[in-house]
Amino acid sequence: MSATHEVDNQVPPLVGHDPIAGDAALAEACVRHADAATLQSLAGLGALAGSEQAQEWGRVANENPPKLRTHDRYGHRIDEVEFHPYWHDLMRTAVENGLAGAPWAAADAGDAHAHVRRAAGYIGWAQVEMGHGCPVTMTYAAVPALRRTPELAARFEPGLTSREYQFGLAEPTGKRGLIAGMGMTEKQGGSDVRANTTRAVPQADGSYRLTGHKWFTSAPMSDLFLVLAQLDEGLSCFVVPRVLPDGSRNEFRLQRLKDKLGDRSNASSEVEFDGTTGWLVGEPGRGVPAIIEMVNTTRLDCVLGSAATIRAALTQAVHHARHRRAFGALLSDQPLMQNVLADLAVESEAATALGMRLAAALDAGEFAFLRLAGAAAKFWVCKRTPTVVAEAMEVLGGNGYVEESLLPRLYRQAPLNSIWEGSGNVIALDVLRAMGRSSDTLAAVSAEIELARGLDGRFDDAVKRLHAELGDPEQLVVRARRIAGLLALCLQGSLLLRFAPSGVADAFCATRLGGNWGAVLGSLPAGLGVSAIVARAAVEPV
Ligand SMILES: Cc1cc2nc3c(=O)[nH]c(=O)nc-3n(C[C@H](O)[C@H](O)[C@H](O)COP(=O)(O)OP(=O)(O)OC[C@H]3O[C@@H](n4cnc5c(N)ncnc54)[C@H](O)[C@@H]3O)c2cc1C
Repeated sequence: MSATHEVDNQVPPLVGHDPIAGDAALAEACVRHADAATLQSLAGLGALAGSEQAQEWGRVANENPPKLRTHDRYGHRIDEVEFHPYWHDLMRTAVENGLAGAPWAAADAGDAHAHVRRAAGYIGWAQVEMGHGCPVTMTYAAVPALRRTPELAARFEPGLTSREYQFGLAEPTGKRGLIAGMGMTEKQGGSDVRANTTRAVPQADGSYRLTGHKWFTSAPMSDLFLVLAQLDEGLSCFVVPRVLPDGSRNEFRLQRLKDKLGDRSNASSEVEFDGTTGWLVGEPGRGVPAIIEMVNTTRLDCVLGSAATIRAALTQAVHHARHRRAFGALLSDQPLMQNVLADLAVESEAATALGMRLAAALDAGEFAFLRLAGAAAKFWVCKRTPTVVAEAMEVLGGNGYVEESLLPRLYRQAPLNSIWEGSGNVIALDVLRAMGRSSDTLAAVSAEIELARGLDGRFDDAVKRLHAELGDPEQLVVRARRIAGLLALCLQGSLLLRFAPSGVADAFCATRLGGNWGAVLGSLPAGLGVSAIVARAAVEPV
């Protein structure tokens, strides 16, 4: 009771739900691509992700962004970044639950579902806080790239695949757990890394000295970085540790931290190298093929992270609508609100199904499929995310615009996955490149699409349109976004038609494939089973 009025019709806090097992689309995909035991193994992480404690970690870590400390009190350079303790709780949880490099070791030890397990855990846990997902992802992605040079893999892989989180700068081989980052983008160009000006000079002991800069290097307190620099042979990839084997600090000058739109819990820095020691990964002059292993894996996480963002926004929207009344009825019972929520839920189903299918491809070694489907999914799912979050925010009305609702944080984070690791145009062009380099990629993706042929006329027509687009050699570059988007939609359609409830697949085919849709979310045609779609998306405290 307030002094002047009774507080009424406000929504109860959403705590105690499980964003992994409690998300039907995610749980089903995990069982489909792995098994029930794999889903069960994520129960502890799911329960923590829905807890008040984890939500508080996320909130506070974002309200207390990292601080750069360039020098100690005596004027010595230290180049360190200080994080709020809750950041470390988030990181520790992710690493201990195998969301960083651990799946590679698990797969080597015979776990056939290591990447699917991790993907389901990542989608669930990232909903708590997205910023720390960045170093978790880069650590995961560094392992396959480092494997190009077995002696470097032998040196660093035990730490990168460890389930222990040990923060702080120390000699990497002596640490119980390592975190990795990457440095590609320079001032004069990020997409076109061939324009990199950082130079590397070979040393008698087999190491290299790097001189130059990086304009974006996230998570600068990581233990080691994969960095691109020029040799006489061309652009090459190096592993650069923050601490050298003799225990001294490597030259790694943090010039500034970026003042970012979102992703505020995470530090993204500008770095200068001046005689910085590194070791060559892969062949001299073959830096792009070396680091592309890392980039392809981080792109998978762009899809998983975007699926997580979409799902987190949907969860808040459905929860709100199921508890808030207007004009005498719950919002969730009102037909036009059901239309909005169902449209959001269909987007979430499609994003989750595609992200989990990509992870399954990693478990199965379907690299041709992953190369093309991963790029198309990165383009499409990441592009859809800001639109979905904005609409979910509106479901909460004015409350959605207020920080406490979580939606502003999701909204600020939402565009990031589309920008980094290949911005929209670059990734759409990469879809063309992936098809042009080898016919295996398109054959693998087409085979997946074909599995649903004949199940729905609107889907079949969309596949015909895709083939017509691909068969027309004129102006392919101008049409790259159309092609990338349609490819991703056909894949999503194939997955939903085979695995989702018929109402979800029907709504997807009617709108995304059949075009019976408006320019904004919430314009599903009448006659679809929207209430069942929304009911499936609702989460309950467990
Ligand atoms: C929060 C954050 C964290 C980051 N962390 C890292 C990190 O840890 N390490 C790292 O190396 N980088 C990092 N980046 C950098 C990021 O990867 C680059 O910003 C991104 O790759 C784009 O490069 P750019 O900014 O130089 O843009 P540009 O390359 O200048 O591109 C600008 C625009 O032009 C488009 N474009 C480019 N080429 C073409 C073309 N041929 N045709 C049509 N359009 C084109 C792009 O799609 C883009 O939209 C981070 C960025 C952000 C925002």
